[in-house]
Amino acid sequence: MADSSRPRIRELEPRLINQIAAGEIVERPASLVKELLENSVDAGARRIVVEVEQGGMQRVAVHDDGVGIHPDDLELAVARHATSKLAALDDLDRVATLGFRGEALPSIASVARLTVRSRIEGADCGWELVCEGGARGERRPVAREAGTTVEVRDLFFNVPARRKFLRAEATELAHVDNVVRRLALGSFETAIELRHNARVGRRYPASGGDDARAQRVAAVCGDAFLAQCLPIDEQAGGMRLWGWIGLPAVSRSQTDLQFFYINGRWIRDKVVTHAVRQAYSEVLYQGRQPAYALYLELDPGRVDVNVHPTKHEVRFRDSRPVHDLVYRTVHRALEHTRAGATPRAAPAATAHRPPPTQARLPLAAREQLATYTALHDPSPAAEINPAPEAATVVPPLGFALAQLKGVYILAENRDGLVLVDMHAAHERIVLEKLKRELGDAGIVAQPLLVPVSMTVSDTEADLIEGHAPSFDRLGFDVSRSGPRSISVHSVPQLLADADIAALVRDVISDIAEHGHSRRVEQTLETLLGNMACRSAVRANRRLSIAEMNALLREMETTERSDQCNHGRPTWTEVPLDELDKWFLRGR
Ligand code: ADP
Ligand code: MG
Repeated sequence: MADSSRPRIRELEPRLINQIAAGEIVERPASLVKELLENSVDAGARRIVVEVEQGGMQRVAVHDDGVGIHPDDLELAVARHATSKLAALDDLDRVATLGFRGEALPSIASVARLTVRSRIEGADCGWELVCEGGARGERRPVAREAGTTVEVRDLFFNVPARRKFLRAEATELAHVDNVVRRLALGSFETAIELRHNARVGRRYPASGGDDARAQRVAAVCGDAFLAQCLPIDEQAGGMRLWGWIGLPAVSRSQTDLQFFYINGRWIRDKVVTHAVRQAYSEVLYQGRQPAYALYLELDPGRVDVNVHPTKHEVRFRDSRPVHDLVYRTVHRALEHTRAGATPRAAPAATAHRPPPTQARLPLAAREQLATYTALHDPSPAAEINPAPEAATVVPPLGFALAQLKGVYILAENRDGLVLVDMHAAHERIVLEKLKRELGDAGIVAQPLLVPVSMTVSDTEADLIEGHAPSFDRLGFDVSRSGPRSISVHSVPQLLADADIAALVRDVISDIAEHGHSRRVEQTLETLLGNMACRSAVRANRRLSIAEMNALLREMETTERSDQCNHGRPTWTEVPLDELDKWFLRGR
């Protein structure tokens, strides 16, 4: 065959290799900030300053006070596959630093102008090395304090195709900000400052103690999150999970407040995201995203971080215990979101409503008002209800005063006015009752008169054989009837009318993906939810004061009663000082 039609194989030159690697690591200025910040944290920095110009497209510089780079290692720092963080093959199984692949600096140097300046403790001076588009200059001495500065200018100056993908300054800056926030929530002990175009944008002081940590959480996630979150801390199976989970009231339409760290590294992982979502499924309105900052600590040997060059993905040696711990801990914490037990701010609509302008009642109107009050008992609840002042203990949701438009219960508690959506609240109460009953009896299996036969793949059939106990527990009796067929002999009683084949298939795919399935529980919950919805008090039913008080007391002792079965809030509160503001009443 003619040689011209068959290209010959040759080794790529180093500069090209680095540019290819840069394709994966350096997407935009924020990627530079991420890599440089990680290096500073790995160097044990106590204080890091990030400087960004024009969203980082023109210049990114990261200064730290870490251990620095030995002058003789400066050339190696920008060489490919050169790192101080791994020495032997075994180290790769237990990575304890954020970096370890030794490719960030050379990749960056291949697509931008890179300057590294560093001085180690006790040295006479610092040293500087400049690289441009992969070409390395000579190192030269510079005056500077101990620590390292890495400066990157003109990103993609030599890769016009990539430059086109850069967005507006504000967009790039937002990405940089996100990276800094992620890192700030992962390294409490390090003070971090972000400056844009020479102005201080963010400042995260070092935060060692618990209070200081909470301050940083508020700085990154917002005050509203801190005010309405639950701290958690749980240990099991050699792992520890701690952090803060947002109450449903601070859920979002986006996943922007979901921070998950494994051994200090921010990650995005299917197993943990799924576990958290599932834990929230009963209290979040569909489409809402939970907010959380969670930290998982486990033996580095149990998780592989060498999955992707950016190291945002991980692979667990065994994902089941991780999923269990995350699901169980978050779910249990949320269980206790009983009405009145957790802080609740007035909804934004009332919190920011301007006080109404003072009405001037004409005399005639005032007279009418007097007649009206004479005709109507001003406090119909007074005889039935102990006055809140007189009672020794006012329950969190207070005492019922009246029903509004057949939909809302108005009650008075210590702080002021309480408003309850009676259908939503009752629905949750009924659901939790049904669930308790189901829990006591367990999932009852119902044998099928005629077994259902299904065709499945080899792998699915193997999976069913291997997970017989899991199916049993869920109320299914499933056996293999051929290499690619199974028969279902019994199903969960309450779901006997469901589409059995579809349910079994869903359970199989859950087990294939997560090692276990909550599908039956979930389907049961949906079913119970529908039952609860049907049997809960409908709007427009008149309730007596006593009935309303009974409902309030039940809410206080029912798990998850802050939200209805669909995740909508069941109650809200308007404190007296808020009311006073509406009426311009000074106190
Ligand atoms: P990696 O972080 O995977 O080792 P990098 O290319 O990011 O690879 O960095 C190469 C090496 O340069 C690091 O292993 C480290 O020894 C050194 N280095 C980079 N940045 C710093 C810094 N800010 N402080 C001290 N050493 C640094
Ligand atoms: Mg690195």
